[in-house]
Amino acid sequence: MVKTGKAAEKIVAMGGIRFLQFAALSAAGLVHGFSLRQGGISPPPYDELNLGLHVGDDPNYVRENRRRLAAALGYAPENVITCQQVHGTVIRRVGAKERGLGHANYRDALPATDGLLTLEPHVVLMAHAADCTLLFFYEPNVRCIGLAHAGWRGAVAGMGARMVEAMCQYGCQRENIRVVLAPSIGPCCYRVGDEVVEAVPERFRRQVLKQVEHAFYLDLPGLQFLELLEAGIKESNLFRSRFCTHCRTDLFYSYRAAGGLTGRMAGIISMRW
Ligand SMILES: [Zn+2]
Repeated sequence: MVKTGKAAEKIVAMGGIRFLQFAALSAAGLVHGFSLRQGGISPPPYDELNLGLHVGDDPNYVRENRRRLAAALGYAPENVITCQQVHGTVIRRVGAKERGLGHANYRDALPATDGLLTLEPHVVLMAHAADCTLLFFYEPNVRCIGLAHAGWRGAVAGMGARMVEAMCQYGCQRENIRVVLAPSIGPCCYRVGDEVVEAVPERFRRQVLKQVEHAFYLDLPGLQFLELLEAGIKESNLFRSRFCTHCRTDLFYSYRAAGGLTGRMAGIISMRW
């Protein structure tokens, strides 16, 4: 496993639901969270706090679950912007005029997009995952936030580094950018095939792939951690969750552990001012 910064995360219970918050983002006064699965109204196999509108769950349950998360974190649901994620690397800058896209209906979510950034307060970025990594970004001087989704395809394509580049186009300094990697499937559980092994950049393979007999295990968040360091993020500004979603299905949805049909956690980030 790649050695990474301290976890600095805590589980918060509020309004009947639970979510994770990260010290690096709390200290900056950002509205943010990564939802856990307890406290919503979705029935199995989406039990309970499913926040994905695209996984076959009743949209009315998802909208109620999203309302609960908004109430607990203290943001207006109509300010949310979310995407139709496709394991790509497209990043879009959004602002006040995109508010509400994808919050109530999946068809309104930004198509073919896996990363969002904004420089505007009260814009709420939302992304979804169940084993993939959500990456939270914040630059305090320019006051820019970003949120990205990356599974192995996004990771090998350098999604994290691409977000850093996108933020720098708006004046952010890479040495000021804070990045948090939310819980995703860990190297303990993420057995991968040849297609993935061969796609991992050669220079990272020794650190992020572990062979156990004839199988390979990928350290997905570890790969993203190394890519972010290479992109100029300071190690002291980089935080990685200690949780594996596949090990902890009591807390998280895991696409792989569920055999595919399951709910989604959501990551949320917004600036209050
Ligand atoms: Zn695990």
